[in-house]
Amino acid sequence: MNANKRRAIFETLHSLNPHPTTELEYTTPFELLIAVMLSAQATDVSVNKAMRKMFPVANTPQQIVKLGEAGVAEYIRTIGLYRTKAKNVVAACQILLDQYGGEVPADREALEGLPGVGRKTANVVLNTAFGHPTIAIDTHIFRVANRTGLAPGKDVRAVEAALEKFTPAEFRHDAHHWLILHGRYVCKARRPECWHCVIEPLCEFRQKTPPPEL
Ligand code: SF4
Repeated sequence: MNANKRRAIFETLHSLNPHPTTELEYTTPFELLIAVMLSAQATDVSVNKAMRKMFPVANTPQQIVKLGEAGVAEYIRTIGLYRTKAKNVVAACQILLDQYGGEVPADREALEGLPGVGRKTANVVLNTAFGHPTIAIDTHIFRVANRTGLAPGKDVRAVEAALEKFTPAEFRHDAHHWLILHGRYVCKARRPECWHCVIEPLCEFRQKTPPPEL
């Protein structure tokens, strides 16, 4: 895909949604960190539902450590892998208290040093809580980047590198949100909805889906 098409894709996505953000509900960097940790292999909707109950009770590292693993598990029972996630969340909070004064560090290495926090989670927190132009690659972005020809790559690191290289600077901060939303609601995994896709004329996917028959 050439640079003009890439720019046109981002211009189109920008014009329709100038201020995209995560669908996870949060009010502080700490709440965002916890929500993103819990969202691995779970839907944002399920995380929001659980956090609407837990955050009013515990939304600081101190409160979550006090709640303990069993207490956190009670709130997140409906979320996949909840036992492991409860363990990681409490351990991460203890590290935030011991090493970072109870604050979420705006630093990749520090974030990735927390239990249950990988590159993707760190990228989301750096981007959305701290405004860094990172691009977190999830399953939706990986698919959209490859299918459209926007930033092909055989694994997530290759796609991340390609998007960082090819995304025009002014779109880099929001690229992650636009591509996730596009993959989640239009360029779906099993059946991309090409017939109402706003970037269809720019997309290089060869087997575009025809409109459903009426
Ligand atoms: S045209 Fe189809 S394959 Fe291309 S981005 Fe749109 S939905 Fe995805």
